[in-house]
Parts: sequence; structure tokens; C-alpha cells
Amino acid sequence: MFVNEIILVVLIIIIVIFIAATVMKKYRIFGGGDDIEEEIKYYIMPNTPGSNIDDKVYSEFIMRTKEVLSASEWHKYHKFGETSNEAEATITMELATNDKISTNIGEEYYDYNMINIYKDVEKPTDKKVIKFSTTSILGNKRHIRFNLDNWLSGVPESGLSTDQYREYVINHEFGHGLGYDHQKCVDGVCPVMYQATRGCPVGTKCGSKVQEIDTTVRWFMK
Ligand SMILES: [Zn+2]
Repeated sequence: MFVNEIILVVLIIIIVIFIAATVMKKYRIFGGGDDIEEEIKYYIMPNTPGSNIDDKVYSEFIMRTKEVLSASEWHKYHKFGETSNEAEATITMELATNDKISTNIGEEYYDYNMINIYKDVEKPTDKKVIKFSTTSILGNKRHIRFNLDNWLSGVPESGLSTDQYREYVINHEFGHGLGYDHQKCVDGVCPVMYQATRGCPVGTKCGSKVQEIDTTVRWFMK
């Protein structure tokens, strides 16, 4: 009898520990705060042969993107880091020509998806008029295409210098990659999720950095 009781108690303890561990893992009871979310991996694609983009320009794009993302205020809100393994990346990025961006626009892209959340790109009636960067949804992945023309010369309508525009567009599209929608701009410096490529409202200035973000409005991931 006594031995049976010991076995029973041990079994109960094992079951309790198992249940507790499962619950803690599921609800991530340990770690809280920033640890709630697993690290999001991003991958910057290399220049591809036939891209019509100069290698030097492409290298600068890679360097600047790494620089902006490593210093980005998005780190205050999410855990993310670079990976050299494209397969494990949630967010992939490339610098692309207008032509490529226009050609690749399809139903899978957020610009036309049924929830109709983002409108960085108008439906192309003339492929040449597309001058926006895009973030597309491809299954569980997000793919960002930075527009080459805007990258090279900036966008005067934004009132930002070319370098500031680059910082803006990296933070903005990466924000979409993290699952954020556009935000309104009422006064002062516009949030980075405002569409500066279209120009900012009169009396305001376009921003290039991530300011206060409401993290409860994200539409995917936790
Ligand atoms: Zn956008």
C-alpha cells in the first residue's frame, strides 16, 4: 500500500509539473514584456543578375538598410534581427526598379487584398506611373520592394532630403512588414507610418523616424 501511495504522489507531481510547464509555455508566463514576441528575422536580398541596378548602388542600399534598422526605434516595440538565411526570414527586402515592382503587383499584395488595408500603390493603369515602394503578403511572409527611383533621388513632395527619405521609407515599409497600417497626421511631425511619398498635410512635416506607436493595432502576429 505504502509503495502504491508513493507512486501515486510522484505521478501527481509529474502531471502537475507537466501541466504547469505547458501553460507557462503557451502563455509565456516567464519573460513578459519584450520577450512576449519571438525575434522577427529579416533578410536583405542581394542584387540579382539582370536587375538593371548598379552593384554599387545596391551595396549602398544594403548598408543603409542595415544601419537604419539597427538604430531604428522599432526596437522599442519589437524584437527583430537580421538573418543571412532567407528561408528563416519573415521579412525579406530588395531594391527594385519601377518596372519590376509594377510587373510583380498581383492579388497577393496588400495593396489589393480584400481587407484593403494599405494603399501605397494605386491600381496600375499605366505601369510607368507606379513610383511607390511596396510591402506584400506572401503566405506568412512579408516582402518589401523599395522603389529604385525614389531611393536614388528621394521624393521632393515629402520635404525630406534623399537620405532622410531613405530612412523614412525603410522604417515605413518595415513597419508594414511588422504588421502596421498607415497613421494619420494632424500636426507637427508626421508619424513614420504616414505616407510621406504622397507629401504630408499643409502645416506638418514628414517624419523619418518611428515615434509613438500603438502596438495594439497590429493586424498580424502578436
Ligand atoms: Zn505604406
